[in-house]
Amino acid sequence: MFKKVLIANRGEIALRVHRACQEMGIRTVAVHSTADATAMHVRLADESVCIGPPAARDSYLNVAAILSAASITGAEAIHPGYGFLSENASFAEMVEAHGFTFIGPTAEHIRMMGDKIAAKQAMASLNVPLVPGSDGELSSFEEAREVAERIKYPVLIKAAAGGGGRGMKVAHSADELEEAWRVARTEAKAAFGNDAVYMEKYLDRPRHIELQVLADTHGNVVHFGERDCSLQRRHQKLVEEAGSPALTAAERDALGAQVTQGLSKLGYRNAGTLEFLWQDGQFAFIEMNTRLQVEHPVTEMVCGIDLVKEQLRVAAGETLGYAQSDITFGGHAIECRITAEDPVTFAPSPGRVTTYHAPGGLGVRVDSALYSGYAVPPHYDSLVAKLVVHGKTRAEAIARMRRALEEMVVDGIRTTLPLHQRIMADPQFQSGDYTIHWLERFVGLRD
Ligand code: ADP
Repeated sequence: MFKKVLIANRGEIALRVHRACQEMGIRTVAVHSTADATAMHVRLADESVCIGPPAARDSYLNVAAILSAASITGAEAIHPGYGFLSENASFAEMVEAHGFTFIGPTAEHIRMMGDKIAAKQAMASLNVPLVPGSDGELSSFEEAREVAERIKYPVLIKAAAGGGGRGMKVAHSADELEEAWRVARTEAKAAFGNDAVYMEKYLDRPRHIELQVLADTHGNVVHFGERDCSLQRRHQKLVEEAGSPALTAAERDALGAQVTQGLSKLGYRNAGTLEFLWQDGQFAFIEMNTRLQVEHPVTEMVCGIDLVKEQLRVAAGETLGYAQSDITFGGHAIECRITAEDPVTFAPSPGRVTTYHAPGGLGVRVDSALYSGYAVPPHYDSLVAKLVVHGKTRAEAIARMRRALEEMVVDGIRTTLPLHQRIMADPQFQSGDYTIHWLERFVGLRD
């Protein structure tokens, strides 16, 4: 096993990785920008290295500085967390070229899945069902019009290099297509430096259901069941559940068997998530994320595993040591993403936290880098805490989440805590009958 791991991230996920390392007797190296000198991940790590000024492109995305930090501290492996460099294939390549282990998949698979068109082609070759759409990249507006006529409106134009919901535009009719085509390409060019787009049928009432997988370097692949991430605003997740209130165990097992066989054929390694839209009992693949996800804790709570420890073990070359039949699912887990934003307008609200009090008690987990007196910097993602609960049943998990939200105190900044309280109290959320469009109606973004 590694003796020292560098964590190339910040915030709650840097802490999350540190905790797994600590319990495994692995020493940790934190890297940080000047804005994060007093951050929790820096305080808890065994060593820390300042890698640049506040702007992420000069610090958390500064490959040379991160590799130098690994070198001078004698780290053997690098965990990228999520966001930042976690899905950057060149970074993974450079890490390995400098003699460190990249705790994640191969650069080849990161590159393949990072191009959503290539990812869909790879999944099609493994007989994984896709959302109907264009056969790869759209070469012209003419072609976009032809495909839209064939698959019927509404359609969605999506960026091949897309992420974070950017470069995605809906056209409900032929009149809207030109605008959607133009805006999606402009956004994609600006955000990703690549204006390649493709088209999918825009599903009217799907759920977002994703499957957590893990592979060792010896050809063993398992899945840890599904997460339902249908509660979204602007294509971004706010609340996640494991399992999905809509799925049966048989449906999960069938999808899981197909996916794990496919990934084994592909030679995939480490953790990954396949995202699907699910409507009328049918799964349709949309993309694969080749990293640990924000919402991984709900899976950990129902499976009783530590995904980061598993990532470290397989990255060090260990075999999984268990089979699919050893993995069992117990109870129900829910995660609320608490962000430093106004709960009504979603305007960012960085600043000093005067009082922080984390909830506790049976079945409650808080992944957060907050502390009383900490100033949330304005330079990064607004996620400040993940409140995760586990209960014997979904109803118990909801009741537990409601009381944990009551107990939690984050004073000094605005947060989305009140929004989560409203969601958990809503009868339709409680019924489990919701789609990816439900939350936007709930917050008044659509009618
Ligand atoms: P990103 O990588 O930018 O997050 P995804 O492809 O993962 O983009 O899609 C994000 C979200 O957008 C999905 O969870 C879903 O809510 C919505 N979405 C994506 N594709 C479709 C589609 N074909 N029809 C309806 N909604 C979709």
